[in-house]
Amino acid sequence: MKGSLVLFDIDNTLLNTGGAGRIAMERAFADVFAVDGALAGVEFQGHTDRSVYLHTLGLHGLPDGGADVYQTFVDRYHALLSRYLPLHQGHLKPGVPALLHLLRDAGALLSLQTGNFREGAGQKLEHYGIARHFEGGGFGDNLADRPALVREAMRQFRGRFSGPVYVIGDTPADMISARANGAFAIGVATGEHRRDELTAADADLVFSDMADVAATMAALTALAAPAAR
Ligand SMILES: [Mg+2]
Repeated sequence: MKGSLVLFDIDNTLLNTGGAGRIAMERAFADVFAVDGALAGVEFQGHTDRSVYLHTLGLHGLPDGGADVYQTFVDRYHALLSRYLPLHQGHLKPGVPALLHLLRDAGALLSLQTGNFREGAGQKLEHYGIARHFEGGGFGDNLADRPALVREAMRQFRGRFSGPVYVIGDTPADMISARANGAFAIGVATGEHRRDELTAADADLVFSDMADVAATMAALTALAAPAAR
């Protein structure tokens, strides 16, 4: 794995906040826009926080108040997220953080491609004790489409990786984003999408979970190895 770049999605790939993220965002809409239950029926999976924000404004007929209102909302969300993370019983996904240690020991660079706001991503990773494994990444603050997240993360590491790029995520959107950027698409069915859905989205590899970290490492390594002759 030496010289490779591994880009992780966060929610339902590395961890699950036990609903803290969604509740914090819903409360932020209530506090900033006086809309209760703003996120009822709103799909987060495969979207960025920026796109969820814009979609939800539209859903409730609220005008896009511009950058100042957006920043007020983002700040409120982060204050609420730090309050709710410890109040909700979340978890790291199986194999995390052991796999992160193994990847780093093997010389891989670890970063993120996540729809989370940058600060919210950091709060979640800190709360679950895995922030130190990651550097930089593509975040959902100003990017509304998922492939741009992978593109941005790859740009930050230009010249620093010599091996393949892996994108690891739990949604078809993660697989599509990987493919769009010439990265290996690694699906992990620890969210709401089944293995066959990730396979159908053109995943190179799909895991039920990453609990068997040695097998996961071997499969990732084999993917990049030249075919046996
Ligand atoms: Mg996810």
